[in-house]
Amino acid sequence: MKDKRPESLLLSIADGALPGDIPAGPGVYIFHSQEKRPLYVGKSKKLRQRLLSYFRQPAALPAKTRIMVQKASYLEVVLTRTEKEALILEAEFIARYKPRYNIRLRDDKAYPFIRLGLKSRFPRLSIVRKRKRDGALYFGPYTSSHALRQALRIIFNVFRLRSCSDAAMKKRSRPCLKYQIERCSAPCTGEISCQEYMEEVSRARAFLEGRAGFVVSQLEQEMKTAAGRLEFEKAALYRDQLQALKRVLEAQAVVLDSYSNLDVVHIELDGENAHAAVLKIREGTLGTKHSMGLHVSLEKDIEGVYADFLKIYYSSSMVPPEIVIPVKLAENPGVQALLEHFRNGRVRIKHAVRGKRKNLLDMARINALQGLRESRQREAGWRELSSLLKKRLGLRNRPNTTEGIDISNISGSLPVGSLVSFDRGEPNKSGYRHYFLKSPGPDDYAMIREVVERRIQRGLRDKDLPDLLLIDGGPGQLGVAQKVLEEYGIVDQVDLVSIAKERQEKGERIFIPGLSKALTLDPGDRVLLFCQRVRDEAHRFGVKTHRARRSRKMFESQLLAIPGIGPSRQLLLLKHFGSIDKIACAQVEELEKVPGLPSRVCTEIVNYFREQEKIGKD
Ligand code: SF4
Repeated sequence: MKDKRPESLLLSIADGALPGDIPAGPGVYIFHSQEKRPLYVGKSKKLRQRLLSYFRQPAALPAKTRIMVQKASYLEVVLTRTEKEALILEAEFIARYKPRYNIRLRDDKAYPFIRLGLKSRFPRLSIVRKRKRDGALYFGPYTSSHALRQALRIIFNVFRLRSCSDAAMKKRSRPCLKYQIERCSAPCTGEISCQEYMEEVSRARAFLEGRAGFVVSQLEQEMKTAAGRLEFEKAALYRDQLQALKRVLEAQAVVLDSYSNLDVVHIELDGENAHAAVLKIREGTLGTKHSMGLHVSLEKDIEGVYADFLKIYYSSSMVPPEIVIPVKLAENPGVQALLEHFRNGRVRIKHAVRGKRKNLLDMARINALQGLRESRQREAGWRELSSLLKKRLGLRNRPNTTEGIDISNISGSLPVGSLVSFDRGEPNKSGYRHYFLKSPGPDDYAMIREVVERRIQRGLRDKDLPDLLLIDGGPGQLGVAQKVLEEYGIVDQVDLVSIAKERQEKGERIFIPGLSKALTLDPGDRVLLFCQRVRDEAHRFGVKTHRARRSRKMFESQLLAIPGIGPSRQLLLLKHFGSIDKIACAQVEELEKVPGLPSRVCTEIVNYFREQEKIGKD
């Protein structure tokens, strides 16, 4: 994705009229709110004509489109040379800004990709959450952690690619534990030649592209050749790789001919809600199923929903050579051109299918219907629960966004504030935050104050305040948070409650500003269960980071166990190398570059970490 934004023209449309200087050619347009937040991104090959349709007869516009135009204060236009360029830019802007009035994936998590960096002599495998245009290969996104774990297990067990960073690999004088447990072929110390390693890379690549059958036949061939040459050790290695791969393939259902690579997509639409199911068929076997809710804000016909979905979904997913959908796309050439651009190859979008493909479409429809049914149930459940929350907790409105705050520390050391976010009763991980606290510990009130204040400052800046803030604590913590809301003048914008365990774990009490008596709800009460869920999630999230911080600190303090290292040399080393891992991999000559570190101490450091490595292996 391009980081640099192309030249654009920002025009004020505060008076509801289209500015006169809009060019006629192709381009992308963005409606912005008063706060310059993108509301809607569209494209057209005749920009002026398209934009006139929004302003000429506002009363004739569909209701939701009219509301969107009324909310817009600015119009941004970006000219492109061709319609295809406009299509690509539109998809980039939608993915980047996630405008409120474009079709949005409800479940907008950053799913992991497997990245294979090809620039290195021995390509490395890593897990990333964002795709970049950096010449590397990206596979995924993996929406199921089981599928990701399985793919990684195969890559490391069968193909034995390295996972360490380039810097760590360069510094190795001996292979690490991964070589001993046969999860890496140890290119770091030349245990495998570059050519052999690259053969494994190309097999891993074929496997990740869904061509496992091809990898199997290649391995069979290699095994026979090795056995023919009496290279039994090599043949045994290929045999083990084959067995591991076949076990994975046997678990997959064969649904089409072995050369079929396609996605089957079905969308069920219900007003503003929709649900999409994507079945991924690779080499004829049914691989992963991806099921996701969509939000359709503007009036769209079903063809428009499919066109927008394909643009958004495949801007971050691998595009197969064939996509089967149940409708004929009016915009087919445009969507197809965009998908071919993403794929860098030919893509066929089929709609009139029969036989096995039709059966797969039916299967996708059943999955989409089931997803829609579940999201309707969740929505109804949330409506009921949010009304109960409003009534029992005396809130001003039914809360759509709820955030929970907790503090994790041990006697005030390494305090971490955690904030979790729930959107309509479901965790919204993109809203989770950690705060490394500066407040002097152990002062719970000061730490709560710091987290609430930092959250509110961000919320005011980004115009993104939660409806309900839930604090882990009693009246003291609640009072501190309430004071912050008062200081920022937002008491009437954010509802606040706190939850605390009663003494001797007898139950839970909920504290509400202005009420001297705590609310005690029955253990199975839905309001109490929801508050506990938010609080427990904040606690879990905070404890996880606090533990990681603590063990990093303990690991760093290992340095102090080395003769000749005190706090100032420890600081010097960490500053020079950036991390304890890099210090542990460093050779004497590299350590000697640290100003003021005697050679004797450098040797002590190397010996210490060698010793630790030996103990680890034993
Ligand atoms: S064995 Fe070598 S190349 Fe493999 S992960 Fe360990 S350090 Fe990296």
